[in-house]
Amino acid sequence: MAAESRLTIDLDALAANFHALAAQAAGAEVAPVVKADGYGLGAGPVARRLWAEGARSFFVARLSEGEALRTALGDRAATIRVLDGATLGAHARLKAAGLTPVLSTAEQVGYWRGVEAGPVSVHVDTGMNRLGLSLEEAAAIPGVELAMSHLGNAAEPGHPRNAAQLACFREVRARFPDARASLSASAGIFLGPDYRFDMVRPGISLYGGGPRETPDARIGAVVTLDAPILQVRDLKAGDAVGYGAMFTAARPMRVAVVGGGYADGVLRTSHAQAAGWLGGVRLPFLVVTMDMIVVDIGELPNARPGDRVELLGPHAPLDDLAATAGSVAHEILVRISGRAERRYLGEAV
Ligand SMILES: *Cc1c(COP(=O)(O)O)cnc(C)c1O
Repeated sequence: MAAESRLTIDLDALAANFHALAAQAAGAEVAPVVKADGYGLGAGPVARRLWAEGARSFFVARLSEGEALRTALGDRAATIRVLDGATLGAHARLKAAGLTPVLSTAEQVGYWRGVEAGPVSVHVDTGMNRLGLSLEEAAAIPGVELAMSHLGNAAEPGHPRNAAQLACFREVRARFPDARASLSASAGIFLGPDYRFDMVRPGISLYGGGPRETPDARIGAVVTLDAPILQVRDLKAGDAVGYGAMFTAARPMRVAVVGGGYADGVLRTSHAQAAGWLGGVRLPFLVVTMDMIVVDIGELPNARPGDRVELLGPHAPLDDLAATAGSVAHEILVRISGRAERRYLGEAV
């Protein structure tokens, strides 16, 4: 039995989310985004399981992530696309690892065309103003096999930027009738059929985050972070807890000190609103420090040292924890540190 903070990564739940997204994307290829080490969950185990579920192409951000993923996938003939593109001098490494750069500047296109003749993947900016060629720059490129863009406000279905970006992307598609087209990440998949095109690129909703930054019944929890109670104590009215007297008891109360903290990935700013769960009972956080979280166990006075408190998981959804920290699910996941003991359920062989 685990004695310390523990991170359980349920790859069966990941697979279920992949199929839920595929159903929602209705025929479009689902190309998982496994950047930042699979959003902190381990790009290797994640991609191997998704390959077993039928995924054949993957996206990473960095060249080095692509190299690591190629090694992790072994002899599986996956297409791995690198969103950073072909930075100057990267050709040899991209080729050696069999990676496909998604070209996003005119300079990259010029560089790549100087060393490679084959079809290319391009990223066209449709109004997010992050990476991407302008439509005019892209229109001049021959041999485009994948034309992609990215939405800036897809988590807000009514936002006018979605329709504006869609209209712009339709011009991109019209310019490359033979290329495959990809516009949507997790949130865009749920904007409706117009946004799906030939390929979708979900990240966060594979890993348990809802497409609208709130928990969504169609997406299951993949990650559970739990930690043991180290000590139980009774506070008197006026007793202060933690550094800087972060919490002061207004009345007598029973609290538990849990052996997980911001060094395990629970952001310090979550202390005021988040809660852990034990035996179906909600235990409000009072104080979050590096190694310990103090929770109110007034509703569960018999909780004892060794009992494991869920800090993130099916009862404490990722999106809720993110909201209490003023953040997004993506950031919570990538900040779960290496300290928690990891175990995978449902690993592909
Ligand atoms: C990160 C990223 C994605 C995945 O986004 P999610 O919100 O995690 O689904 C898709 N496409 C691009 C270009 C990205 O940078």
